[in-house]
Amino acid sequence: MTGDVSFKRILLKISGEALMGARDYGLDMDMVDRVAGEIAQAHAQGHEIGLVIGGGNIFRGLAGAAAGMERASADYMGMLATVMNALAMQNALHRIGVDARVMSAIPMPTVCESFARPRAVRHLEKGRVVIFAAGTGNPYFTTDTGAALRAAEMGCDALFKGTSVDGIYSDDPKKNPDAERFDTISYDEILKRNLKVMDAAAIALARDNRIPLVVFSIREEGMLPRVIRGEGRFTLVTPEEE
Ligand code: UDP
Repeated sequence: MTGDVSFKRILLKISGEALMGARDYGLDMDMVDRVAGEIAQAHAQGHEIGLVIGGGNIFRGLAGAAAGMERASADYMGMLATVMNALAMQNALHRIGVDARVMSAIPMPTVCESFARPRAVRHLEKGRVVIFAAGTGNPYFTTDTGAALRAAEMGCDALFKGTSVDGIYSDDPKKNPDAERFDTISYDEILKRNLKVMDAAAIALARDNRIPLVVFSIREEGMLPRVIRGEGRFTLVTPEEE
């Protein structure tokens, strides 16, 4: 189903937590290198790759708000965390010979490029991996919504979400052994069943712009280049209405 040809330009979203490895905070550089290696393989398969990395391994706005911080300031801290992750990944990609550019939704010109759609398109066309940092640039959003937004505006053929499980289940498979796993499911069904795949804003954006979503486990070594070839285990979310 996910033939290389049909999914030429892809947007890959990985959570910050995926880069923590076995730690409980921050970045595990071995894990960053491993994921960078898999992105390099997918890139070598001829795909144009946009990347969004979350910031939950460093800071989440909701946690700050729960501790008494003003929500918007806490969210800006979360967005800054995504920039740190993006810089680490850019560096890891450069070390293995993959040209990558961080583009931040919050301008910080001494650190990285600011996001500008035409420049981002140009980078992709030139075969550079573009790492979209700082989410949407707005508080009260998530990096999942940032990923759906960039996938839509960059004209990506599909959105790939690397998580800690091998697809979408009817319930949390870590807590409920009877949870049903879906090979395919529609966005409408996800919203109807209130499944925790991405937040509702991200789902609505991807659905309305008819972008398919592939959910797979980034924890499983070597899975990323495989799912991009349409192999391995994943759930495909289709934009079809029912
Ligand atoms: N964030 C935000 N606006 C965005 C994207 C992210 O305010 O457009 C903040 C928000 O506080 C969030 C944090 O950045 O908690 C880290 O992002 P996220 O929780 O999506 O990271 P992940 O769970 O994917 O690691």
